[in-house]
Amino acid sequence: MRGRIILLGPPGAGKGTQAKWLVEKTGLLHLSTGDLLRDEVARGTELGRNAKAFMDRGDLVPDNVIVEMIQGRIADAKGFILDGFPRTVAQAEALARITSVDAVVYISLDREQVINRLTSRRVCRSCGRITNTLSDDSARGGTCRDCGGELYQRDDDRREVIENRFDVYADSTAPLISHYNEAGILHEVDGTRAPEAVLAEILAVVEAE
Ligand code: AMP
Repeated sequence: MRGRIILLGPPGAGKGTQAKWLVEKTGLLHLSTGDLLRDEVARGTELGRNAKAFMDRGDLVPDNVIVEMIQGRIADAKGFILDGFPRTVAQAEALARITSVDAVVYISLDREQVINRLTSRRVCRSCGRITNTLSDDSARGGTCRDCGGELYQRDDDRREVIENRFDVYADSTAPLISHYNEAGILHEVDGTRAPEAVLAEILAVVEAE
């Protein structure tokens, strides 16, 4: 099994959903820098207060803050699924100094698809389930299909912020596709396919010898 995995792709490609399912299937540790940052914001820590302005605009939090936040967690883990990290070449270089990576799964989705998905995305306050108002009837009613909890829209899932997040992705994160392709560890998956089909493809990569 490949136990040190990066999920790469634009916002809304399904990295968070896939990471949660992969954890259930593989027992690997899920490390999402976005979730860690939102937790820092919710707890009102100094890191969270500093990061919030960047996040609200859809800009990247500075590399040194991110690397410092995550490096201990990565160094201590036997295996991991990185979701939302690295997001710049500098972060990828910092990661390479901490550990090696077995596979990078690039979940592809174009700009228009990203905007459609993120404007309709909802997250459950109780169980963290990620859903959307396009395909899920109960999401339109504001209630989680799994646990009955309240669904909310992320602060940064507003149209103008989403557009900036995509542009930031295209400028700063997309170069990682060729970076990891040149390293021979990139696997591309079509993110427009049904989430279950995407999962099956990722599992095939993770479970390969
Ligand atoms: P996400 O949940 O991955 O979409 O991340 C939400 C926001 O957190 C991003 O728009 C950035 O502002 C910030 N963020 C998350 N991960 C990183 C990262 N690796 N580098 C810089 N900023 C990040």
